[in-house]
Amino acid sequence: MALFDPKAKVISNYQKSIDERSSSIRKYYDEIGKLYYDQYKDMNVDNTKDINTRCEAITRLSNEIEDFKLKILFEKGLKKCPNCGTENSLEYGFCFKCGAKFDEDSSKEPKTSFEAAAATAEEPAAEAPAEEKTEEEPAEAPAEEATEEKTEE
Ligand SMILES: [Zn+2]
Repeated sequence: MALFDPKAKVISNYQKSIDERSSSIRKYYDEIGKLYYDQYKDMNVDNTKDINTRCEAITRLSNEIEDFKLKILFEKGLKKCPNCGTENSLEYGFCFKCGAKFDEDSSKEPKTSFEAAAATAEEPAAEAPAEEKTEEEPAEAPAEEATEEKTEE
């Protein structure tokens, strides 16, 4: 029996996200085809805006898919060479195939565009306060006595 591998679940979640985006992309391609055809058939129809929004959505989804693929690689202890695309072990400083140097951050978990978006959308969870502020009265009041001169009434 294989031992339960928590990574397998994480990876399958990433894969599910990729599959969802892939099917959205296919749907957008269909819609673009239809919109373009309508426009082609009748010169009075202008679907440029609808086509453009779908093109942008496809680009965004494609980028997110690439992000998820990097996350899956990371879970497997791999990273991709930015120069040749070869998968390398996370701890490698240079690509074993083309010799390109990896960034220092390359062994860390890849930051993805959707995580950055989620981080800005949600309020950052407040960390436990480092210092406990005591609400005690100061033992000695600062010696600023009667700076305001009393005016005679
Ligand atoms: Zn390389």
